[in-house]
Amino acid sequence: MLREKEEFKAAFIERLQALHGKSLEEASAQNKYAALGSLVRDYIGKRWVNTNKQYVAKGEKQVYYFSIEFLLGRLLDTYLRGMGVRDVWVEALAELGVDYAELEDQEHDAGLGNGGLGRLAACFLDSLAALELPGHGCGIRYKYGLFEQKIIDGDQVEHPDNWLKNGNIWEYRKIDKAVRVEFGGSFGAVLAVPYDIPILGFGNNTVNTLRLWSAEPTEGEMDFASFNQGNYLKAVEYKYSVEAISEILYPDDTHYEGRLLRLKQQYFLVSAGIQSILRTLRRKHGDIRLLPEKVAIHINDTHPALAVPELMRILMDEEGLGWDEAWQLTTGTISYTNHTIMPEALEKWPIDIFQSLLPRLWEIVHEINERFCHDLWHFYPGDWDRIAAMAITADGFVKMAHLAVAGSHSVNGVAKIHTEILKKDCMKLFYQYTPYKFNNKTNGITHRRWLMKANPGLASLITDTIGPSWMRHPTDLNRLQYFVADAPFQERLAAIKRDRKAALARFVKAKYELDLDPESIFDTQVKRIHVYKRQLLNALRIMELYNRLKENPRLDIVPRTFIFSGKAAPSYLLAKKVIKLVNALAAVINNDPAINGRMKVIFLENYGVTLAEMIIPASDVSEQISTASKEASGTGNMKFMMNGAVTVGTLDGANIEIRDAVGDDNIFIFGLKAEEVIEICANDQCNPRYLYQTDPRVRQVTEQLIDGSLPGGPDEFRPLYDYLVHGKGDFFELQDFAAYLDAQARVDARFRDRRAWAAMAAVNIARSGQFSSDHTVGEYAVGIWNIRPVPIGE
Ligand SMILES: *Cc1c(COP(=O)(O)O)cnc(C)c1O
Repeated sequence: MLREKEEFKAAFIERLQALHGKSLEEASAQNKYAALGSLVRDYIGKRWVNTNKQYVAKGEKQVYYFSIEFLLGRLLDTYLRGMGVRDVWVEALAELGVDYAELEDQEHDAGLGNGGLGRLAACFLDSLAALELPGHGCGIRYKYGLFEQKIIDGDQVEHPDNWLKNGNIWEYRKIDKAVRVEFGGSFGAVLAVPYDIPILGFGNNTVNTLRLWSAEPTEGEMDFASFNQGNYLKAVEYKYSVEAISEILYPDDTHYEGRLLRLKQQYFLVSAGIQSILRTLRRKHGDIRLLPEKVAIHINDTHPALAVPELMRILMDEEGLGWDEAWQLTTGTISYTNHTIMPEALEKWPIDIFQSLLPRLWEIVHEINERFCHDLWHFYPGDWDRIAAMAITADGFVKMAHLAVAGSHSVNGVAKIHTEILKKDCMKLFYQYTPYKFNNKTNGITHRRWLMKANPGLASLITDTIGPSWMRHPTDLNRLQYFVADAPFQERLAAIKRDRKAALARFVKAKYELDLDPESIFDTQVKRIHVYKRQLLNALRIMELYNRLKENPRLDIVPRTFIFSGKAAPSYLLAKKVIKLVNALAAVINNDPAINGRMKVIFLENYGVTLAEMIIPASDVSEQISTASKEASGTGNMKFMMNGAVTVGTLDGANIEIRDAVGDDNIFIFGLKAEEVIEICANDQCNPRYLYQTDPRVRQVTEQLIDGSLPGGPDEFRPLYDYLVHGKGDFFELQDFAAYLDAQARVDARFRDRRAWAAMAAVNIARSGQFSSDHTVGEYAVGIWNIRPVPIGE
């Protein structure tokens, strides 16, 4: 399949002509990208059909990963690598005078997710296919992805992400597989139309499916609504109200939104997905009772938790099963991942909204609750408090996490500490009742995107050093441990890092007209902006360092470049103030001649997968400084580690497992521990004010927020001052401040020994294999889904 350069060139030119009626010289970059995509589709088509045929023929169990978000990023390069033709095609294109990087840039980064949760789903799909596992994604084809962020005068400004404006060459609209989704009351039915995206295995013949659903009016409904009466406007209104369901991704991942449209999205996803799964099951196996043997449905957080009552509804109302059997099949099929312990993120739907939109599902949820509480009563006779605390519907709300736990056979957290907190704290009562359901599956990232694609130079060095087996077996990266102290290896590693830093510096120069010094420490915090992630703590220590340099211009520090990127939810004012603060610090520090370039601050706008692929390989230091206990796992931390950046972090989420993997000497840990945070909060003893009174550095940096030293006047950052000094203090920025400064001093000291630093970077890379999502997905496959690889022949 076009493995020879000349063969590829001829096909490419022919395809340009066929698709666009243009010669190579006439064709635009977008035309060439489309032609390349079309050749990829040629390759995929046969293998996709073949994969599905063999899945049917072998009758093996399939897993369906339901997620309201899939943060895919660009796919072109992933496809070419999966096909094993990337290098040949890139060279052939170059010989034709076509710059592959320019074609890559034609693809709009698919941003159908907010952050870690959506990116996890994308990494899992990649690993499922690489491991030849029969697993598919089920999501929503939002017309608009996560907003595009612009920084104007230091402020975040949101623009719509019209990612489909040039079409999407990777999707296949399958109108013949559309299903009807019925809502209650006046809303009626909508048509769910699948758009399938092929998910290619790496170096195998597997092509799995990500099925994204789009909402369209049903034809009958359109006519019925109004056309018959000639009421066109009403018909059009109806059309828009239907299409609104898959119009836009909600841009907030840490607060639940009790909005009707969000509930519609959730039901739309779940109902369409389950109907389509059951249709396939009936066709393949005939007997619906085989469901848990043949199908696993996984729900990524509680957003798809309506899968529980929806599956019950179909099994009872459409398949005619009784309650008990339907319940057994449902709980045998569904498993659930919890992603957060923060109370404001736990979904609960007001019963009146739920009931009016989904009357039949409400009846079922009500019955699930009745039976659940009845069972609890047998287990804990008379313990009303416990039963009330565990009820699925209470105080006028449906509690989605309770529904998800009751309706699944497996509940997993996403890092060891997170799972422990679930068991001991947040879900203690559920754990006591059904301990066997609870298990841990630490998150992971696909090393194919985050190492091989994002950092090809590093990938080559690794292969030169230990051979290529790590690409299939990422824990083989361990073999690098023998080269950690090897001087030539260290030098090559350092040279690759410098090269990536220089590349990022060129990008920053071109876009922001700012000079970055690749010899300085690139110290990076990129992720959603949120108080619990504590970008504010990072900003405060930058202020502190700046103060020291101003007081003593001869202070001996290693020059540092502070890199930030990330989006704030549009309604999250405090987070937006933090963005403004970082930009204000950049304006002051970057333009202060007294600093002489020893500190630089840059906020890169519009964080997303593609930008992350450039920033992470260019970083020396990875800031993972969430308040201990608040970050369930984190996956950014793993991407940095895999690229040889050293973590400055709290003992939170997967940072703990990273520490265990690399050892205390190869990470900079600081700050309060999770038990301490939980204990202090439980006793309501945060009291940040005493620090303001006792630590002069704390006092100085907080005062500087309101004394007019920053651009924008004394009131611009008063909300941050009030938050730090007068707030509840339950994110512990001030308590952790001194320890954080100390950790940064250790970084400064260690970076001066460039060999020691390279060795630390090497240990981090060597130990990162366990954080490949191949490992994670392998554990889900065995421990939760009970699925096996299905190798696909040619
Ligand atoms: C990995 C990733 C995240 C998650 O980062 P955390 O540091 O774990 O919060 C968010 N956004 C993008 C674009 C990512 O690639």
